[in-house]
Amino acid sequence: MQALLLSEYKRLEMADLAEPVPEPGEVLIRVAACGICGSDVHGYDGSSGRRIPPIVMGHEAAGTVARVGAGVTAYHPGDRVTFDSTIYCGQCPFCLRGEMNLCDRREVLGVSCGEYRRAGAFAEFVTVPERILYCLPDAMPFEEAAMLEAVSVALHAVKLSGVHGGETALVIGAGMIGLLTLQAARVAGCKRVLVADVDATRLRLAESLGADEVLQASGDDLTRKVLQATGSGADVVLEAVGRQETVSAAIGSVAKGGTVVLIGNISPTVTIPLQAVVSRQLRLQGTAASSGEYPQAIELISSGKIQVKPLISAVAPLDEGPRWFERLYGGEPGLMKVVLTPHAEAVP
Ligand SMILES: [Zn+2]
Ligand SMILES: [Zn+2]
Repeated sequence: MQALLLSEYKRLEMADLAEPVPEPGEVLIRVAACGICGSDVHGYDGSSGRRIPPIVMGHEAAGTVARVGAGVTAYHPGDRVTFDSTIYCGQCPFCLRGEMNLCDRREVLGVSCGEYRRAGAFAEFVTVPERILYCLPDAMPFEEAAMLEAVSVALHAVKLSGVHGGETALVIGAGMIGLLTLQAARVAGCKRVLVADVDATRLRLAESLGADEVLQASGDDLTRKVLQATGSGADVVLEAVGRQETVSAAIGSVAKGGTVVLIGNISPTVTIPLQAVVSRQLRLQGTAASSGEYPQAIELISSGKIQVKPLISAVAPLDEGPRWFERLYGGEPGLMKVVLTPHAEAVP
């Protein structure tokens, strides 16, 4: 089969690899679409240490079942499916209480990090365990289905924020995850959603996707503007960047007793104003991947309550992958999600 192989850091090439064979409990997927994730771009040059070559990356995918391994009864060849990016064991204490994202034996598709190497979906075929699959509605195009992972991440973050309706929320960062988090906050019933970023183009997109107000600011300037707009701060801040100035602004912009959900983590370490967190009784809540949000994500995209189409910058054949990685790595402005199509399928 044809696959996009990271043969060495910053070198992607089309390679002819053996088609994988599904083990018992596994399913062979004919990949129709796979999105390029920010983590793939960060892994590409070796800076994250999680894409040690040689590796086929790709974990935001959808396609059809080609073959099933022994013991698989719930899925059949031809079924349109997507799958979780996390392969969880289903047996450890975390899995048993529904926190599959925290699984003790967690592996991510398309990652090689020293502890494991798991081939991903920038290939014509990929094998995954049956337990991580979800069926897709017939009407959902595969390239939109490739966005389900990111939508699930946003839904999980908003769930952990504890909002139950009526809150004022601030989303910091209007990239891919920030724009989905904005929409997820709306779905969760937040009555007012503000979005902050330094990029005016992204903020225009935020407005078109339902932001009540956008703030072109960062750091102390952002905090000032949020306090001006809200009086006492946002009830909930969803931080989708993860740098010193954005985390500081998040903590400065939340109301007393409020929650800051930490989604982004570009910087591995930041300092926090401890006294402000303690004396204002703030809750800092980390969030990782998703656990069980896929069915809700499928429903919300299908019903149009969450829009993913405006976030897809390009859909391109797999062999154009190296060029798109270059452009994403170069930080081309305005480029959001790029979806590669190992098997181009007719849009239903
Ligand atoms: Zn991803
Ligand atoms: Zn587990």
